[in-house]
Amino acid sequence: MSHAIQAVRGMNDLLPDQLTRWRRLESAARHALAAYGYREIRFPLVEKTELFARSIGDVTDIVEKEMYSFEDKSGERLTLRPEGTAGCVRAGIEHGLLHNQVQRLWYLGPMFRHERPQKGRYRQFHQIGVEAFGLAAPELDAELILLSARLWRALNLSGLTLEINSLGSPAARAAYREKLVTYFRAHVDRLDADSLRRLEKNPLRILDSKNPALAEVVSKAPNLQENLDEESRAHFARVLAVLDAQGVVYRINPRLVRGLDYYTRTVFEWTTDRLGSQSAVCAGGRYDGLVEHLGGRATPAAGFAFGLERLVELLELQNDPGESEPVDVYLLAHEAGTLPETLLLAEKLRDLSLRVETDVSLGSLKSQLKRADKSGAAVAAWLEAPAGRAVIKSLRSDAAQQTLEQGELMGALALTFSKKI
Ligand code: AMP
Repeated sequence: MSHAIQAVRGMNDLLPDQLTRWRRLESAARHALAAYGYREIRFPLVEKTELFARSIGDVTDIVEKEMYSFEDKSGERLTLRPEGTAGCVRAGIEHGLLHNQVQRLWYLGPMFRHERPQKGRYRQFHQIGVEAFGLAAPELDAELILLSARLWRALNLSGLTLEINSLGSPAARAAYREKLVTYFRAHVDRLDADSLRRLEKNPLRILDSKNPALAEVVSKAPNLQENLDEESRAHFARVLAVLDAQGVVYRINPRLVRGLDYYTRTVFEWTTDRLGSQSAVCAGGRYDGLVEHLGGRATPAAGFAFGLERLVELLELQNDPGESEPVDVYLLAHEAGTLPETLLLAEKLRDLSLRVETDVSLGSLKSQLKRADKSGAAVAAWLEAPAGRAVIKSLRSDAAQQTLEQGELMGALALTFSKKI
């Protein structure tokens, strides 16, 4: 026997029993997205490396360390998408979806980051991303948050905390950045290697540092909230006013800066205390400069993405039953002679829109009934050849087994499931 080949580290198989909760999450998300008028968009898993370098920013963990990049046979530098916003914006510009119009878009799919795998952190993981273009009003930022909150309610998820911040206008952010650089330069001796690297190119990320040795120097750094421009302050106040009016509880976190370069004004993150160190389940914000930065006309935009693995994990923790698609009828056959007829009957039942699983194993009645039960079907049925009889057995109630004429079986099953023949 040759050795079995295993999956790539950090990339998971999702097995049928796990997918019931994925399906529940995805259908709740589709439902919530439709309730706000979002339309699905799909774009490739692979893009030119340059797209991510330009949009996410050179001095981010993603671009510096985590991208799956390769050269294809014609020498083009390509990357497996580490997130969806860049590809979505690229597609929107390329197909003229963004200029002078409003677009509310969403997508679902795998993302790839070469991180150190651990529980809740994978190299292939899945996100649903939501992006709205052409709307500068702070009420849009608030509506995005309401959408996410509505989804958590639909999933009965509790224990999620909303953190929110404003990064200000690009000009205010640039001025604040200078202040930060000056401050941290005066304290270089207390910075770690990561922060030193970020000092010139992405100093806001130092505020995000998880290194406890930096806690003090970071806590005394100039405060972003105190350095906001007037317009951003007013924008932020309007976002919060909607949240207040809707009773959405939040915590303003002046150190929430997000890892990506392209955010302006509102940024937010939903976290949970139930998943250990990988606590972020959803994150997003406004990115008014990105469309222009990627070669389109200036277009205000905001969005967020949530990680499906972590939300499914939460559903598991609260024993959510998930969404399965059991068959209605398990049609078995324990005499070889009845097999052809059994298959024909199954086809007729499917014509009535019943879901039917056949058992062609010719195993004992007992073993087939066991499988019938496991299949989740509501009833099992079979033909009894010599006597021209058929049997229906309820698998979900104590109702007595019913024996009838073969010719009546289809009608009886149709009746059971309220289908018209
Ligand atoms: P980000 O694009 O980094 O803001 O991530 C948005 C969401 O995607 C996070 O809140 C997580 O739920 C999820 N996520 C990000 N990276 C990973 C990963 N490596 N594995 C699993 N989920 C992830």
